[in-house]
Amino acid sequence: MQSILKLDLAGQPRGWLTIQEAVTAYARGDVMYGIGNALAPIFGGIQRLTGVQSSITLQPIIATVGRIHNGFTPPLCNRTLFRRDNHACLYCGKPLRRSALTRDHVIPLSRGGRDRWENVVAACKRCNWQKDNKTPEEASMPLLAVPFRPNPCEWHFLAKERVLADQMAYLSKRFSARRAWAH
Ligand SMILES: [Zn+2]
Repeated sequence: MQSILKLDLAGQPRGWLTIQEAVTAYARGDVMYGIGNALAPIFGGIQRLTGVQSSITLQPIIATVGRIHNGFTPPLCNRTLFRRDNHACLYCGKPLRRSALTRDHVIPLSRGGRDRWENVVAACKRCNWQKDNKTPEEASMPLLAVPFRPNPCEWHFLAKERVLADQMAYLSKRFSARRAWAH
């Protein structure tokens, strides 16, 4: 199912809309502009007086009226975390399925580490067990990459399984660095 990327007027991504939600936003007059190649038109009812069927053409990215928020805290969940780390263990590098990965705290929670993007990585069960209650230095298990907090464009990309080419182009231009998952 296609989704529409919603932006605020500052161009920051603010979520993914279903086609129906996007149609509603258009009908309300909330859409200020669209970006990208038009999708297939969506047909509505036939007007009784004219006999003309209404239709609406959506673009894959729409900017809507509303408040511009400055801060954005990307929610942390395993699905997006594992996508950030390319579905590989950040200690041994082994690529794994989502169900075989765990969330490892680089500085363990018991040692004052926090449950935040900069302190969590995808890890296989074996490495997680082996690292146990230690820091990477103590366990002699250096990280293969530095864990980072995704910016709003990165997070919206990671939060969606499939994105359209125009959406990918818009988001990836605003990534903070070259990312392995940005083709
Ligand atoms: Zn591992």
